[in-house]
Order: sequence, then C-alpha cells, then structure tokens
Amino acid sequence: MLVDVHAHLMLEGHEGQLYSLADMFRGSGREKLAQFVEYFRRAGIDRVILCSDPDLFIPKNDGGDPAGSLKRANDTVAEACARYPDLFAGSVMVNPLALDASLREIEERLEKQGFVGVGEICQYRTGHGTDTEGMREILRAAARLDVPVNIHSSLPTHTQELATLMRAVPEATVIMAHIGGSNNWRNGIKLAEEFPELYVDLSGITVQYAGTFEAALARISHERLLFGVDFPLIQPESMTGPFFAARMPEASRRAIAYENALRIYKRLVPAGAHCAM
Ligand SMILES: [Zn+2]
Repeated sequence: MLVDVHAHLMLEGHEGQLYSLADMFRGSGREKLAQFVEYFRRAGIDRVILCSDPDLFIPKNDGGDPAGSLKRANDTVAEACARYPDLFAGSVMVNPLALDASLREIEERLEKQGFVGVGEICQYRTGHGTDTEGMREILRAAARLDVPVNIHSSLPTHTQELATLMRAVPEATVIMAHIGGSNNWRNGIKLAEEFPELYVDLSGITVQYAGTFEAALARISHERLLFGVDFPLIQPESMTGPFFAARMPEASRRAIAYENALRIYKRLVPAGAHCAM
C-alpha cells in the first residue's frame, strides 16, 4: 500500500508555471477530475491526502471575501473526496489571515465531512509568516482534534520559524513539507534532528536532486518520513521511482509508504482491507 500525504486539487489555471495543467486535464470538471485520479492510479498510489489549490483564496483571487473563497476551496476538495472516497481523504485548507473562518473550517470539515488533517499551509502564497499568532491558533485547534498539520517549507525563514512555532505549540503534530525545500533541505534535516517529534514529507522537487533522499534517510528516523508527491506540480512516477529504488530495509519502506501516515492521520481509513506493499 502507498499513501501520498501531499496533493493539491488543481485542474486548471496556473498559466506560465513550470508545470502545465492545461496539457494534463481537458474536458468538463468531472472529466478533468477523472484524469487527475488516473495519474495516481497508474503510479500505484492507493490513498491520497488531498487539499485545495491555495491560489483559490489568496488575496488577488478571493474577490474581497477570504472566508467565502476558503470555504469554496474546501468545498472542491469535499466534492472530490465524495466522488472518489476510496482514493481521497481531505485535508483542510486554512488562511491565518482569515482566522475565524479557518477555525470554523477546521471544526466543520473534520467533524462533519470526514477530513483527516490540516494543510498544506502555503504561507508563501497566502503571504504571512510561518510563526504568527494565527498560525499558533490553527495548530492548537488541530491538536485539540488530534490531526496533523502540513506546513510548506522552502526557505531558511520557514525552517527558522517552524522551530519557534513548534516550541510555542508543542502539542501539535507538525509535518514539514519538501524536506524543508529544494534549496533548504539541509536546514530541514537539521530541524528534524533538533525536533524529534517533527514529521517530514518527501514531496516536491527536493528528492529529484541526487543524494537528498539518502541524506534524509540517513539522518531522520524512518518513523518520521512520509511519502508524498505534490501532484500536479510533480509527476507521481518521479517520486515513486527513487522511493522504490532506494536501498533501505523493507520495514523502513513500509513505514514511509503508509504505516507512519496511518499512525498520525488517525482518521484516515486504509485502502481496502489489505496492507501488503
Ligand atoms: Zn509546498
């Protein structure tokens, strides 16, 4: 079994980016979603922690209604999860700049709609710090409901502020995305060494650089690493390739592939009844 802890429901827009959604998904909304699903199926991914496109609720796109756009963003994820319940489990998108709405979203999506976590919090898109009073409130809310929070990291300021954030809310289960980032993974690994309770997701382009995955494996316990892709920014096979090729004990591979995810995402139901790789 393989659980991908990091995916964004992005089916259109984002023209001019390094990836090209327009060349991946075509047709009606439903057809695009089916094509989105096919990428996971063909890569052998069984369960996906799915969050929305963060650009739906950034200030330039929210139409002056951050709470409304945040709700619409999470609605799109709820609909995808309802349509593909065996594959997708929702993670609540939040925006600390719309804190009351974010806390309401966390409560309602988790308790009423079966969402399983919070994040990815994309502070680099929404335009706030990694450690702010709003971020601390969100982490406290997630801790009360016993769900993990995935936080984007790609800059030294992100990893520095993650440290103060975790010290302020030690009861929260935090996942640092992208091993800290493609230009910041050394700081990410250092942070993971400093905070033995921090979880680390392998998603994004960091693992595409030779030796980075090996460095993470050597210095972070396999019990704290989580498989992730960051689809549709990243092709799933470009992550499953290095992950299944890397030399490691099968017990470590199982932990990273699904055991750790099932342990910390307590509301996540495993795919089918089998847990064989
Ligand atoms: Zn990210």
